[in-house]
Amino acid sequence: MILAPGAARAESDPIEALRRQATEARTQLEKATKQMEGRKRDLARSQDKLRVTLKDLGKAEAELNRIREPLARLANASYQQPGAAGSMAIFGGGDLNDALRATADVTHLANGQDALVKKADELQSRRQQLSSTAQDLQSKNAVEQTRLQQEIDGLRNKSTQLTKDLTATLNRMSIGRDRRLELGCDKSLAANARKFPNGLIPSKYLCPLPQKGEQLRADAALGFYKLNAAYKRRFGRDMCVTDSYRSLANQNRVYAQRPGFAAVPGTSNHGKGQAVDLCGGVQNSGSLQFNWLEANAGKYGWRHPAWAYSNPFEPWHWEYGTEDEDD
Ligand SMILES: [Zn+2]
Repeated sequence: MILAPGAARAESDPIEALRRQATEARTQLEKATKQMEGRKRDLARSQDKLRVTLKDLGKAEAELNRIREPLARLANASYQQPGAAGSMAIFGGGDLNDALRATADVTHLANGQDALVKKADELQSRRQQLSSTAQDLQSKNAVEQTRLQQEIDGLRNKSTQLTKDLTATLNRMSIGRDRRLELGCDKSLAANARKFPNGLIPSKYLCPLPQKGEQLRADAALGFYKLNAAYKRRFGRDMCVTDSYRSLANQNRVYAQRPGFAAVPGTSNHGKGQAVDLCGGVQNSGSLQFNWLEANAGKYGWRHPAWAYSNPFEPWHWEYGTEDEDD
């Protein structure tokens, strides 16, 4: 008596542990992705700064080039007037006025030269400073980008690996399809799925149904597994499903085909992953299957919404959750 529940527990515990790890890894990946978006914005700001720095650098260089020519001319001029530059010429005879004028010119030239040389030095050092700032920014950005990518890749691999491990463990264990589906469907995915607009929920936030190709939001799927199992016990087969989660693209397609019947795209509960359209008899109001569902679906959180009895009449349409969850 004590052994049996203990054995059952030992069987599901490693799965629970794996599932927790997989959920944890997914959460980390989502967090890291969010952080990366923040850092990408920082990086973009840094790149902007780099662009401004490079522009300043260009200006400093242009300015340097602009004064290089007069600087060279000045150097040339004083070089070509050795007489004027030396004091000997002033006292060496000739017109005194000429000599004074020459001296004044030389002083003027010398002052101009000093100013230009000083400016050239300033520009040169500013250019060096800007250039090293630009290099710093460039290499920092490159390093940061690589690091971020590695971090994300690592987390993604970890998440993928854990999901694979979980699936492999579930497959190895000799448990039934329904139990496997149930264990593989993480209820906390429902909260993630709700964050997406109607019809735009990524597949990874939905859970597969036993009916091939059909999916629902986690909470609706977990209820559906139980409802389906009860139906199977009663009718000897799985429920017949024609439609479950419907992407926005499919909502558009269905709406185009049957505008009077399908909900306006973007408003359907199919787009939230909490509605199914059933067949196998359920589509006929008053059938054995319809009546059974009407009596039992509520135990598993499912219901036939009031509107679907008449407006429009859709006996096949069933929804998960309460009426106030509807839009
Ligand atoms: Zn429907």
